[in-house]
Amino acid sequence: MLTKPEEFVTRFAPSPTGRLHKGHAFSALMAYKRAQAEGGRFLLRIEDIDITRCRAEFVDGIYEDLAWLGLAWETPVRRQSEHFADYQAALEKLKTQGLAYPCFCTRKDIEAEIAKSASAPHGPDGPVYPGLCRHMSTAERTAKITGGVPHAWRLNLATALNHIGEPLAWRDEIKGTVPAIPEALGDVVLARKDTPTSYNLSVVVDDALQGITHIIRGEDLFHATHIHVVLQRLLDMPTPIYHHHGLMLDEHGQRFAKRNRAVTLESLRNSGADVATLMRAFP
Ligand code: GLU
Repeated sequence: MLTKPEEFVTRFAPSPTGRLHKGHAFSALMAYKRAQAEGGRFLLRIEDIDITRCRAEFVDGIYEDLAWLGLAWETPVRRQSEHFADYQAALEKLKTQGLAYPCFCTRKDIEAEIAKSASAPHGPDGPVYPGLCRHMSTAERTAKITGGVPHAWRLNLATALNHIGEPLAWRDEIKGTVPAIPEALGDVVLARKDTPTSYNLSVVVDDALQGITHIIRGEDLFHATHIHVVLQRLLDMPTPIYHHHGLMLDEHGQRFAKRNRAVTLESLRNSGADVATLMRAFP
């Protein structure tokens, strides 16, 4: 009997906080073409947990731009804002295992604590959370929560790593086997004060729920994988194979980013650019 070839499922997961730029086009096309070459599936996911920054017109823009690039994706498209219950369930699972704690700190509290210590550890996302709320008593936590003090939920990384009890690693198509060093990110936020989840939690939950086998994304997210593999293990979710590709640079050697006001695909299209020329410029 012939064995079924392993399924290949990948995704492109933009956040609708602005229009897509060339860097997005490169990443989306890389994932799409790979899925085609593997006879696999390509999914699109809208990462819109941040209701203050995400806009409906940018979601429409994503569909428009990807269609222009010639991409096709399965429907319905998963929109994270419609699945808060899934992230809540994952958070509950971590809470019941004693791996998450409420954090009442304001940004100012954290900055002040960091300023006090000359050797505050810095990770790729900035200073590591100094742990002010990590050892608060249950009574104090309960009193604050009942009193309505706004709070986030953080992963207790030390307890989590103890619970796992062995070093973790992931398979990266470019870098090979990468040992996870999540300490550089520390007690990451699992649920924000203003949103009942976080990028790290929802991306891990969705990749598992959608059966993603290969994650193809920019190397700007390489560091986040160190914590994703930890969350996957804690939540009994599989670790996909990763491919963190290099980022495209503009003519000034700057990476394309929304904050650099990178030329959007929309403006390129409106100025008569064609997709074939765009693709020829890809490394
Ligand atoms: N939503 C993330 C972004 O737009 C990408 C998430 C991912 O690929 O893991 O940067």
